[in-house]
Amino acid sequence: MIDTNKVDAYEALVQFLYRAPIGLVQAGLDGTVDMLNPMSSSLLMPLARDGSLDNLFTVLQDVAPQLRDLTAAVDAPSGVVCEGLRVELGDAAAPGAAQVLALSVLKLDGTRLMATVTDATAEVQREQERLARRLRSQARTDALTRMPNREAVLEQLQQMLGRPPLADGGAQHRGFALLFMNCDRFRQVNDALGQAAGDRLLVQIGDRIRATLRPPSDRIDPHAGAGQMAARVGADEFAVVLDGLRSHDDAERVAARLLDALARPHTLDGQDIVIRLSMGLVWSGDAGREAGEMLRDASIAMVEAKRAGGARCVAFETAMRERAARRADIESDLRQALADDQLFVVYQPVVGLRADGATDHAAGVEALVRWRHPVRGVVPPIEFIQVAEESGLIGALGDFVLRRACSDFAAWQRDLGERAPRLLAVNLSRAQLAEPGWPAVVRDVLAQNGMRPDQLQLEVTESLAAQDQQVQQRLHELKAVGVTLALDDFGTGYSSLSSLHQLPVDTVKIDRSFVCQADTSHHHRVLIEATVKVAQSLGMNTVAEGIETEAQAAAVRAQACAKGQGYLFSRPLAAPDLVDWLATR
Ligand code: C2E
Ligand code: MG
Ligand code: MG
Repeated sequence: MIDTNKVDAYEALVQFLYRAPIGLVQAGLDGTVDMLNPMSSSLLMPLARDGSLDNLFTVLQDVAPQLRDLTAAVDAPSGVVCEGLRVELGDAAAPGAAQVLALSVLKLDGTRLMATVTDATAEVQREQERLARRLRSQARTDALTRMPNREAVLEQLQQMLGRPPLADGGAQHRGFALLFMNCDRFRQVNDALGQAAGDRLLVQIGDRIRATLRPPSDRIDPHAGAGQMAARVGADEFAVVLDGLRSHDDAERVAARLLDALARPHTLDGQDIVIRLSMGLVWSGDAGREAGEMLRDASIAMVEAKRAGGARCVAFETAMRERAARRADIESDLRQALADDQLFVVYQPVVGLRADGATDHAAGVEALVRWRHPVRGVVPPIEFIQVAEESGLIGALGDFVLRRACSDFAAWQRDLGERAPRLLAVNLSRAQLAEPGWPAVVRDVLAQNGMRPDQLQLEVTESLAAQDQQVQQRLHELKAVGVTLALDDFGTGYSSLSSLHQLPVDTVKIDRSFVCQADTSHHHRVLIEATVKVAQSLGMNTVAEGIETEAQAAAVRAQACAKGQGYLFSRPLAAPDLVDWLATR
């Protein structure tokens, strides 16, 4: 008797295998197909060259040639031949159908193989997308700080610049801003503490920027701010995108808070490090349409912040673009000027103001650089010294002035004897002091020209002399060479009479802005008098700069200022003219 229950169960199993959404194949150990369900024939058919699915190995020959060997390698009566083997159909794949199959083969016993085939196309696509996403985020992440990088900022800005204006418009219109920050004198940190410490400092700066932006109180509008981002965009450069701002003032408030937070010392290897940042700000309304332009405008404003002394934020204005382009022109022309000998040095007499009213014309001279530009004529230093400092050309420029001035000075000693100037003053810029070997250069130049060190005076501005330890140390090294130091433009910087004793200078040069009112303003006369008194008490010499009239000369003489310099005595002169000037006094 036939057991109908059993027949039904068998039929159900066959139906199940027949309709399963997965390809099932039973084959002999040589690949001969015994049974296969419709799903497996539809998945494998594109691979069957002659339309025949008689042998599994033959069907898969092109895409999985290793299958035959893998099967032979299974010695045991049963076992796994392969599992989830990815098979790409390549050209064989029909459009819109499976592109990749996943194949598993099992040895059932001494004579039979069981294979499953599935469509793995979607899965492979998902994997590829995941991988691409990971690679993309890596390409947009700064490896050191794990912050977004320049690419990420550009992408973000571009997207924000393309945003349609908000519907409410008018008073409620929201904007965004870009802050661009550059560390002031970061190279010094690297030089002094090493690159690894510099790197750690950058990480700390990045963390502090993020922490400062975090408090929701800065979220001016809780519905906006989606685009906010802090990124590292260059070696010592950071950018912050501020989103959802009502006004320019909002951006400036955040900028001020950032600068404040960043001015606090960082602790590095138990040592307190103060690093200042200069910041440029661009408001979305003032920005160009390209993200790259916006970033460039912000960096132009940052350079202006640096030029203004650093550690501050400057908002971008379109006129700055013009100035930046002009500076770039000056820089490239100046490079040429150094190569083509277009620079020269003029000398302004510094005279002794004797108490008896007499004037000592040979007290000294100050060397002042000039540039004979092929098109623009003679260019004054105010137009190119700062560009030279920013572009690193100041080293070569300063060397040129020092060498030329010393050799002229030595020639005067030979030719004029008694009537030759007794002291040569040369202006020094901060960048020259940053060079570790510079004091040795000074010693060499003096020796080459047979000059005594005390015949050379180096002039530094008060903001420079009052600055960091490294500068102080370099100034002391110069003093050890035997040259004297003068504090230039005294009264215009931020150090005061009370801190004069901390500076390693021998002479104080009182700025022209005081001297020019010496005869007309009681207030200025008192300031000059106080400066002379304090300088004298510290054993320092005094020079009044920019004396233009007899009345001014009389006024500073009355305050017992030892020396004077100015158009009243002489304008700066080319070397041969100076010789004539000295001869006629
Ligand atoms: P400084 O060192 O304070 O030089 C004095 C400046 O005042 C000179 O301008 C000089 O021509 C000008 N001056 C002198 N007497 C009078 C006067 O009676 N009235 C007026 N109105 N001006 C007077 P200059 O030559 O244009 O130099 C400007 C600044 O450029 C200098 O100021 C100095 O800081 C810098 N500089 C000049 N040469 C060099 C150099 O070789 N290296 C560096 N690093 N800086 C230099
Ligand atoms: Mg000077
Ligand atoms: Mg001066």
